[in-house]
Amino acid sequence: MKTQKCIICGKSIGEEEEYIECCDCNSRMHKGCFDGELLTDANGNPLCPICASTEALDWLDELIASYTTVYKRDPRGENIKSRLQNLLKILEGKA
Ligand SMILES: [Zn+2]
Ligand SMILES: [Zn+2]
Repeated sequence: MKTQKCIICGKSIGEEEEYIECCDCNSRMHKGCFDGELLTDANGNPLCPICASTEALDWLDELIASYTTVYKRDPRGENIKSRLQNLLKILEGKA
């Protein structure tokens, strides 16, 4: 088995170290880096941060597309927009 790097911390996973494997893309994560609360699919299977975010966005895409008019009518729709803009800033390293 070749050495693999942990997708979360970027360091290699040693032969004797315990790891968790993403059920979608098979990326590995140190057991200590993995957050079982945050990084699971609906069935409780482990996901890496990329696959977990992709699943969450798939869900959000569908939610927002289905109820577009509600976001426009309800003043809280503005909060949703600013939170999404904040996420973008974090991903772009501007926050
Ligand atoms: Zn790690
Ligand atoms: Zn993954």
